[in-house]
Amino acid sequence: MSAPYTLPDLPYDPAALEPHYSAEIVSLHHDKHHAAYVKGANETLDKLATAREGRDFSNLGTLEKSLAFHLSGHVLHSIFWTNMSPDGGGRPDGALGVALDEHFGGFEPFQAQLTEATTGIQGIGWGTLAWEPSGKRLIVEQVYDHQGNMGSGAIPLLVIDAWEHAYYLQYKNVKADWVKAFWNIVSWDDVASRLGDAQQAPSLL
Ligand code: MN
Repeated sequence: MSAPYTLPDLPYDPAALEPHYSAEIVSLHHDKHHAAYVKGANETLDKLATAREGRDFSNLGTLEKSLAFHLSGHVLHSIFWTNMSPDGGGRPDGALGVALDEHFGGFEPFQAQLTEATTGIQGIGWGTLAWEPSGKRLIVEQVYDHQGNMGSGAIPLLVIDAWEHAYYLQYKNVKADWVKAFWNIVSWDDVASRLGDAQQAPSLL
């Protein structure tokens, strides 16, 4: 069977984001957690192919959920790594800054909403900034697990991992400190580039 998904290399040394994000977490998070989602997505596709060939769909619900979970985990983590940079932080300018003003009423209201969406998750998930192509709007989403509570077709641009594996070794139980630290390493250049690409997506309506 083919394995269509592969683990991307980190775009920087694991220690590059210190002191805001420790090398130990970055290595474990990428090499173990993210890798497991890639493996899980590929294995699930194989199991779905086997189920189709045998016309045995008795386990289909579990497999479809597994595909959504692992594939979304792979996508979100791939975005997450590029969303961070040792040269990050500050505020966006240019078209991204203008878009945040237009859709959130300014940078501060946007940052406050995404911070609360991320820290306020019950259980595990992500806070994300996404481009919603049908309304041509930026929206904040509060994602459960890796795949729940997302508007149909919205394209994630900036994602903050709020699973305990993302911060516990460094920030213990204080998720808010992790999110505060994230703002010091966020790569607005990457988010702006992703926005430019996402705005080319057609409306789904
Ligand atoms: Mn994670």
